[in-house]
Amino acid sequence: KETVRLREVRRLYGTATHTVKALDSVTASFHAGTLTAIMGPSGSGKSTLLHCAAGLDRPTGGTVVIDGTDLGSLSENGLTLLRRERVGFVFQSFNLVSALTAEQNVALPLRLAGRAAPPGLVRAALAEVGLADRAGHRPSGLSGGEQQRVAIARALITKPAVVFADEPTGQLDIRASRQILGMLRGLVDDHGQTMIMVTHDPVTASYADRVLFLADGRVVDEYSGTVTAET
Ligand code: ADP
Ligand code: ADP
Repeated sequence: KETVRLREVRRLYGTATHTVKALDSVTASFHAGTLTAIMGPSGSGKSTLLHCAAGLDRPTGGTVVIDGTDLGSLSENGLTLLRRERVGFVFQSFNLVSALTAEQNVALPLRLAGRAAPPGLVRAALAEVGLADRAGHRPSGLSGGEQQRVAIARALITKPAVVFADEPTGQLDIRASRQILGMLRGLVDDHGQTMIMVTHDPVTASYADRVLFLADGRVVDEYSGTVTAET
């Protein structure tokens, strides 16, 4: 099942003196149960692609469809709702709220959506990432790997169809990185999530089913184990 589709997506940035083509007609689709790594040199458009695909940034042209919804048809409020309810985010810097416990951080997306956050559900999410015994800890009392596991539990609490990860192992040592990647891989395989991950690390990319290489805002190469994309 195709859950994310980009069609001729362009993103131009205008500066005082010239225009930068951060994305230059990117067409790609992403399917349930697959993990795609986006790679490419610095400045090739990886972050812009992730932000446009996730509804954090609006493309200058082209269309982005997530789970059947054309993001171009949504108001700012509609986009915010879609991000909150149907998309999960995992960041390099974890982005946990330091004043909140692990449990409260995981419950946050539900609370922000005005929904109930049943303790049983939150505990189950923490148990799934192996942190059942850390529910009451604040981020400062957790290792980097543990903080990222809390962030993963938080990203998944709304059961989003799509999870976007921006250098998810960028601040972790090799052991914690492998643990996190194994966990993300397991989620894709067991729950059929669509995962799209930006990384410059070949080890991280090796966990992906597919690698899209960007250069100068275009997809210039694609390695695919199981999936074929239309480019
Ligand atoms: P990457 O993530 O691969 O390093 P980016 O998507 O961050 O690449 O950037 C792609 C291009 O767009 C670069 O040339 C960058 O300088 C430019 N760019 C990114 N964001 C902005 C912005 N807010 N204003 C102007 N140019 C930008
Ligand atoms: P609100 O305006 O309701 O606070 P935001 O747009 O700030 O909503 O955030 C919606 C979602 O997008 C959140 O899950 C947040 O973590 C994520 N997000 C916000 N800003 C960024 C960013 N610069 N890069 C990646 N994700 C972001």
